[in-house]
Amino acid sequence: LGRPAVEALQPDDVRALLPRPDDVAHKYTRGVVGVRAGSGTYPGAALLAVSGANAGLVGMVRYVGPQAIADTVRSTHPEVVGDGRVQAWVVGPGGGDDAGRMLAEARADDVPVVVDADALRHVDGTVPGCVLTPHAGELAAMVEVEREDVEAAPLAHARAAATRFDCVVLLKGHHTLVAHPDGRVRVTTTGVPWLATAGAGDVLAGLVGALLAAGLEPYDAASVGSWLHGAAATQAAAGGPLTASRVAVQIPRLVRDTLAGL
Ligand code: AMP
Ligand code: MG
Repeated sequence: LGRPAVEALQPDDVRALLPRPDDVAHKYTRGVVGVRAGSGTYPGAALLAVSGANAGLVGMVRYVGPQAIADTVRSTHPEVVGDGRVQAWVVGPGGGDDAGRMLAEARADDVPVVVDADALRHVDGTVPGCVLTPHAGELAAMVEVEREDVEAAPLAHARAAATRFDCVVLLKGHHTLVAHPDGRVRVTTTGVPWLATAGAGDVLAGLVGALLAAGLEPYDAASVGSWLHGAAATQAAAGGPLTASRVAVQIPRLVRDTLAGL
């Protein structure tokens, strides 16, 4: 009672919110997103986060991480450049023991941060303006309950976490919930169970970061990113199996179809 209803974004809503370059755009006006991710144990997570960030929705993508991974990023994503000014950071995928330092470095810049994976363990106190992207197990660890508790009451836990951390919480799962600290919640149902595959969340984190850098509010970036990610997966899967890499390469086509009203 007194709680606003949970809403689902419609294609028209997403179309209205999608960033698109105006006639006099240049790469810096479109936004620059930075990714701090990857470690010796998990280099692939960095590549997948970069691929989600590098889906064409911003003017430039930066990567900051171990040299060996940076070299691989340069060969697989030649558009991506090194450290410098950004309008949003994506932090955590595959970060391992470096995730705490990555988060501190990103938060030293006064820009919104997408906090994912290993970096979620280092969120201490409130993180206004940020987007947290946990799955149920990660959210459970953050608020010291059992994974089953989150799975039994995902809406209540997403809302409580958004209030507690004073940021947008994107709780991933079969249906994904995006909770605003003011109590609003959006639900995303565009995905498919084939999306339950390693690296899918890393692509999502990169995509949400790109939308933040393009100028969307954290609540819109999280919910539009989740909507696109699920719809791109459904389109790429076409009823069959899926890998995270294929979700990332599908994003530009999905955006095109969404802009065209297909
Ligand atoms: P992660 O756990 O970080 O790899 O993220 C997994 C991604 O897959 C998230 O975007 C989830 O929303 C999505 N996902 C996981 N399980 C399902 C499912 N059963 N149905 C639809 N999407 C799912
Ligand atoms: Mg993950």
